[in-house]
Amino acid sequence: MTEATSAAEATAPAGARRASPAPVGRPDVVVVGGGVAGLVAARDLALAGRRVVLLERSHRLGGEVARHTVAGLDLDAGAESFATKGGVVAAFLDELGLGADVVLPDPRGAWVQHGAGEAFPLPRTGLLGIPGDPTADDVVAVIGRAAAEEALRLDSADPAVGADHDTVGPFVRARMGAAVLDRLVAPIVGGVHSVHPDALAVDRVAPGLRAALAREGSLAAAVRSVRALAPAGSAVAGLRGGMARLVDALVDDLGRLGVDVRLGTDVAALDARSVSLATGEVLTPPHVVLAVGEGAARALEGRPRPADGGLITLATIVLRDDRLDAAPRGTGVLVAPGAVGVRAKALTHGTAKWPWLAEAAHGRHVLRLSYDSPVVDAATSDDELRAQALADASALLGVELRAGSVEGTARVVWDAPVPEEAHRASPSPLDGVVRVGGAVAGRGLAAVVVRSRRTVAELVSAATTG
Ligand SMILES: Cc1cc2nc3c(=O)[nH]c(=O)nc-3n(C[C@H](O)[C@H](O)[C@H](O)COP(=O)(O)OP(=O)(O)OC[C@H]3O[C@@H](n4cnc5c(N)ncnc54)[C@H](O)[C@@H]3O)c2cc1C
Repeated sequence: MTEATSAAEATAPAGARRASPAPVGRPDVVVVGGGVAGLVAARDLALAGRRVVLLERSHRLGGEVARHTVAGLDLDAGAESFATKGGVVAAFLDELGLGADVVLPDPRGAWVQHGAGEAFPLPRTGLLGIPGDPTADDVVAVIGRAAAEEALRLDSADPAVGADHDTVGPFVRARMGAAVLDRLVAPIVGGVHSVHPDALAVDRVAPGLRAALAREGSLAAAVRSVRALAPAGSAVAGLRGGMARLVDALVDDLGRLGVDVRLGTDVAALDARSVSLATGEVLTPPHVVLAVGEGAARALEGRPRPADGGLITLATIVLRDDRLDAAPRGTGVLVAPGAVGVRAKALTHGTAKWPWLAEAAHGRHVLRLSYDSPVVDAATSDDELRAQALADASALLGVELRAGSVEGTARVVWDAPVPEEAHRASPSPLDGVVRVGGAVAGRGLAAVVVRSRRTVAELVSAATTG
């Protein structure tokens, strides 16, 4: 499903309030795409005095940040947190007047599930699941003593071993072995980045890690050193009321700043100076900023999504069951690829993770399970998905949940990220177009916000000095 249509399945979406265009005359900049990247770019451009038109093909703003209502609860339908690293998003939320509503997740942390009944709390001292101490008790509990000793042995090799691997999978396999990769790293990478570690660039998700390996002499020491550089505290944070409030605040600002927001406006083609709409209209602003996802960018280039570019289906369940009050698996469970008896790849226990949500839910529980296609796809009926989600939640939480305790369910479908290795290398019609957003910045709100702000600052400064 495309980014635009994914929104159609979320009710009461964030960003739906400002729908009517307010013509600005000839724009200085056209921003294509109204996800967080496009909204942030449009806001910063307008703050710098530019006349901005923002084109969004769906009928709401926010892209992968969206809201839906399930059993009367307003919930995030897409992103639900942001990385705290660098403090950039928190500072930005402060600027938007949301600083006081930044909240941390419950510290109990998540679990990882392997076979039936084989569930363990995730080790605490890792980076992307790569342990800072392969023989720590919580690591040994997950991978076993023999694999821990093997990881230690492999990691004592010369630091050059494995250092030339660009992607996380081969890098970790070379330095610490298959068990660390399969039992620790793959569940975390799959749950957080929705791809296998073989398709994720080390430098993108763990900048500085390869340099630290060369400096520190082992991957475990490199992990410890990178972690030591990060500020203490939680790696992620959220917003009381949900991440969709970020979109609400951005949309409000665009309205205040007079940005001409055009919803339901599909861009069919573009280059650095012209934007052709699906209606046939052509805009020729001095600057174009492209803020669409990788799949949509490929469509604009006339290239198909790669064959394995699939779908992620989220099944949300709101239910009442006191046995979940103790949060039997902390804030949720990441499922190792190949785990038997469970088809979901991750479960978030929303009300255990976010105290504000537990308060709003009044004793009910919110569970969100995610599925890759083809495990769940368009051929899966809503009834089938509901039954599967309840069975998986029971298996993952170790509590037999009853259909009768369910008060509401929802199904939301998103495009899976395009695997890293499939990103373009050859010249494209989009070369020369200023690009922001997850497709170029990397997945996640922190990366997206930083990239948009930096790109706009460069654009404004080049125009001022040029
Ligand atoms: C289920 C899910 C959970 C996530 N959880 C987290 C999380 O907890 N923390 C985190 O940091 N990140 C999370 N992310 C990732 C994060 O949401 C994204 O990295 C970020 O929102 C991407 O923003 P964007 O603006 O680059 O792209 P998008 O949000 O994809 O926005 C692109 C916009 O462009 C529009 N568009 C596309 N083509 C055209 C066209 N031809 N013409 C006009 N408009 C077009 C689309 O309709 C869309 O609105 C999650 C993502 C998903 C899907």
